[in-house]
Amino acid sequence: MAKDIWTIAEQRNGDIRKVTFEVISEARRLADRTGGQVTSVLAGGPGIGEKAAGLGAYGADRVIVLEDDKLAAYTTDAYCGAIVPVAKEGAPAILLLGASAQGKDLSARLAAALDAGLAMDCVGFDLDDGGNLVATRPIFAGKVMAEVGYQGEGLQMATARPNVLTPAPPDESRKAEVETKPVSLDAASLKTEVVEVLADETGKVDLTEAEIIVSGGRGMKSGENFAILEALADVLGATVGASRSAVDAGWRHHGDQVGQTGKVVTPNLYIACGISGSIQHLAGMASSKVIVAINKDPDAPIFQKSDYGVVGDLFDYVPALTEEIKKIKAE
Ligand code: FAD
Repeated sequence: MAKDIWTIAEQRNGDIRKVTFEVISEARRLADRTGGQVTSVLAGGPGIGEKAAGLGAYGADRVIVLEDDKLAAYTTDAYCGAIVPVAKEGAPAILLLGASAQGKDLSARLAAALDAGLAMDCVGFDLDDGGNLVATRPIFAGKVMAEVGYQGEGLQMATARPNVLTPAPPDESRKAEVETKPVSLDAASLKTEVVEVLADETGKVDLTEAEIIVSGGRGMKSGENFAILEALADVLGATVGASRSAVDAGWRHHGDQVGQTGKVVTPNLYIACGISGSIQHLAGMASSKVIVAINKDPDAPIFQKSDYGVVGDLFDYVPALTEEIKKIKAE
């Protein structure tokens, strides 16, 4: 029997997030093999339905819109309360979400409510001969890749690490069928309410969504010295990250920390400056597409994971690199 695949679309302030396109594209690739349909569930505040048909460009056949004031800002209980009844009714075989902060939170609650098996933070998907999902996920801080299967007949759920799957080139002529379903949320059953959202005042792209990251470690020697990384990030359109040592020293905010106890990032380019490459740091950035390390110690472990390495003093190389890129951009 053809197996249908569902995805949960993610939006913030009405803007569809990139991981949504990655997940729908992957669902399309899988559904072309199972012979099933791709349905995406798009929940949000009033007006969100306008974004629904566009998801067809990435491969959704159908979009179920859940529109309600109480869904304008994400809360676990409101989103679960709205999505669970439609997922039970639609009974897909596979349900995929992005492993963003929201997706990680929502998927756990949905899996419990839908009695589904859930593989978190996956970097690849396949199907076995029976059309069942096989998910690849990094374990032991990224040292080992595990292939995860599912037991029983229940719903198979997985979250996909952002920026790893390749979104299909959008086909704007392809529109999804849009179905708006009624949302019935009892206000008394909602335990949380978003009172205020404080936007990041820097206006920089969040680390988990950045295409380029320039990161600094203990080798930066002070918080003030991060100014040279900010300058490089400015010319590259990058976001600045940090190792835990730099965060623990009070040089950077915890939100900038990359690694096992920080953020997991998968940019196209990760430039590590004065970072030794501990296993805990690598756990957060080893799946970056291209890694460049600048470190004065030729034996620093980071070089084993790097595509390009500069053995030298970052205080010489980083400003020189910034100037060279400025020159190239000016040409
Ligand atoms: P160091 O290891 O001290 O390396 C500094 C590097 O800078 C050296 O390689 C040195 O050669 C180089 N350097 C110095 N001066 C210069 C210069 N002028 N030019 C060029 N290079 C220079 N760490 C994380 O990053 N993220 C995490 O999420 C994380 N979670 C952890 C969780 C646990 C449970 C534990 C136990 C640890 C965790 N750590 C984490 C800490 C981790 O073990 C390392 O201590 C940390 O990553 C080291 O940071 P660093 O590379 O900046 O510093």
